[in-house]
Amino acid sequence: MEILCNRLDRCFELYKEEFENKALSILESGCYVLGKELENFEKEFSKYLKVNYCVGVASGLDALIMAFRLLGIGKGDEVIVQDNTYIASIMGISINGATPVFVEPDVYYNIDIEKIEEKITKRTKAILVVHLYGQASDMGVIKEIASHYNLKIIEDCAQSHGAIWNGKMTGTIGDIGCFSFYPTKNLGAFGDGGAIVTNNKEIAEKASILRNYGSEIKYHNKVVGMNSRLDELQAGLLRIKLKHLDELNEERKRICNRYLKEIVNPEVILPMTKERAGHVWHQFVIRVKKRNEFMEYLQKLDIMTMIHYPIPPHLSEAYKYLGYKIGDFPITELYSNMLVSLPLYNGIKTKEQDYVIDVINNYKMKI
Ligand SMILES: *Cc1c(COP(=O)(O)O)cnc(C)c1O
Repeated sequence: MEILCNRLDRCFELYKEEFENKALSILESGCYVLGKELENFEKEFSKYLKVNYCVGVASGLDALIMAFRLLGIGKGDEVIVQDNTYIASIMGISINGATPVFVEPDVYYNIDIEKIEEKITKRTKAILVVHLYGQASDMGVIKEIASHYNLKIIEDCAQSHGAIWNGKMTGTIGDIGCFSFYPTKNLGAFGDGGAIVTNNKEIAEKASILRNYGSEIKYHNKVVGMNSRLDELQAGLLRIKLKHLDELNEERKRICNRYLKEIVNPEVILPMTKERAGHVWHQFVIRVKKRNEFMEYLQKLDIMTMIHYPIPPHLSEAYKYLGYKIGDFPITELYSNMLVSLPLYNGIKTKEQDYVIDVINNYKMKI
């Protein structure tokens, strides 16, 4: 039995007819960009999140890039962000000319709230919070810090669609929430997509101008904008996924609860969860001492795993110019050397998961 780390075809199979009918109707409509599907998706996603505005864009990275630009954050400014994130979070900051200032993660793989204040300087303008792997960060403390130092909060929700912190959806707690609808995400399209959400009317209006060459009225360009739109096909298919998002997240939770309960092996460190942070389990990430050996062992038994993420941003070639070296962020580095993501996808079969659990429980580290 071969078990892939992710299988997007399984989710398609779950609602095949709905997807097919929707895709066909959009193809037949003759309208492919900035139409009714996008409008409806934006309305439905705002309603789901209980936020005033949603603006669909072309990707999660674009949403991040636009968020900092909309808040006027750029050259000379600093943005605080956890180091153990996907590099797109950092690119959203640096493409605007601002400098990412890294903070180590806590035991939940979110930003360590104890280590934020020591990184704040006169240049600090914002905190970018990443609800990594689907678990919400402690937004209470982060909001307190932000309001004390007069900082903006941008939430990177690329992995946290539907995750709730203390009764509020992630993405709606800070100034701007940025979502990705890349196919592997909890709310995934059949191509690229993203969105900005906010309760601020001015920001929403500016975002919808920015994504369309800076124009509200065709050929009247107010600012130098982008071409970053969520197309009709993606928006329409996302509307179907959104209808099922809660049940899809529930299924992920059931799968991960099984992993948490049934994986019993002293070599495996299981993920920790917080009471108040409704986890939507974008990834199930464990830690093992001898990662290569562990991954090879699984692979030999036809189980594929992945690493999220093997190179922390401060050691990435793209950020060499920031001048960091190995040892600067020891916790992030330790994690990045030990992390393994287990197979996790909607539509995983019981016997597939049984097999993964069995094989992991039989793993013995070579001495
Ligand atoms: C996927 C992801 C992004 C980027 O989203 P794209 O749509 O792929 O551009 C940003 N941040 C995090 C944490 C992600 O997981």
